[in-house]
Amino acid sequence: MKIFRCQSCNQVVYFENTQCVNCGATLGFLPDCFQVGALEPAGDNHWTPLPSRSQGHLYRMCQNYSQEQVCNWMVRADSQVTFCDACRFNQTIPDLTVAGNRMLWRRLEIGKRRLVYSLLRLGLPLISKQEDSEDGLAFAFLADTDPTFTENTTTMTGHAQGLITINLAEADDARRERMRQDMAEPYRTLLGHFRHESGHYYWYRLVRHSEWLTDFRRVFGDETLDYASAMQHNYQQGPPSDWQSRFVSPYAAAHPWEDWAETWAHYLHIIDVLETAWVFRLRVSPDNDRQGEMTSQPDFDPYRIDSFEEIIEQWLPLTYALNSLNRSMGQPDLYPFVLAPLVISKMEFVHQAIRQALQTT
Ligand SMILES: [Zn+2]
Ligand SMILES: [Zn+2]
Repeated sequence: MKIFRCQSCNQVVYFENTQCVNCGATLGFLPDCFQVGALEPAGDNHWTPLPSRSQGHLYRMCQNYSQEQVCNWMVRADSQVTFCDACRFNQTIPDLTVAGNRMLWRRLEIGKRRLVYSLLRLGLPLISKQEDSEDGLAFAFLADTDPTFTENTTTMTGHAQGLITINLAEADDARRERMRQDMAEPYRTLLGHFRHESGHYYWYRLVRHSEWLTDFRRVFGDETLDYASAMQHNYQQGPPSDWQSRFVSPYAAAHPWEDWAETWAHYLHIIDVLETAWVFRLRVSPDNDRQGEMTSQPDFDPYRIDSFEEIIEQWLPLTYALNSLNRSMGQPDLYPFVLAPLVISKMEFVHQAIRQALQTT
């Protein structure tokens, strides 16, 4: 993610902020220029970004910003739309008459906006189900009909034909943490869910009917394998004992589709963290690094670079530093995963498929 500044007072502000903590200016994200703008009212519910961001454009708040306070994105005032580039994919939102649901929804929206930011930056095809019922994308945020949140829960977080469903319970930190422990996962976040499920969607968009399918099967395996029985097998027997040399997570070993989605999610994790490191001009260069293998100085836009080698070369040493920083705060590792060579080659496949999509759209 980029770093942003309030154009009114130069305070550093975050992607999620709606108000400058220093000067109180109203803030909104302008998806057409990938910037958080400090905004001045311009009458008739219109807002003008302070100079340097505006190019003279007027904006309105996304309806989920002005009415629901769960969004901070803006839409161009000259467009007819009421929802922003992230909210227009919402098909089902939580029942807001239930106490606490608005807060949970807000957390979901934060993860979703970070996902959409990355998809837009990557230049991936992004069309809503409303515009294209066949190939479009939509989100459903559903509360479980069964209040116990277990592995056998009825409202499953998942993807089906472009519809990404997230169980609202995932936004409840205590319940998600309990689930993480029950599933023995090192990492479980809303953002991770969004990234993983988007992987399933883009498998349909980028791989299913493409010249990549043969190579996909060579790298990830045969996805025509019966999904339900493969999941059942993974659940009952656990992953193969050598999973770490072949898969990014035990869950990825369940089925080639899950392997792709897990690998896709990790690709998005890496690209986002590298962008953040890049804009902060982060440099990792420990004293005892004689060969340079512990040195990281990402000086490129990871959303635009063609070389995957460069990405992974910067990433690996960066994770040692980031994990060490987290341990210094008594926090779990920032990136609690080991990337085996085979997993890295799968990730390169994801990278190539995305780069190709960029060239053909
Ligand atoms: Zn300010
Ligand atoms: Zn919105």
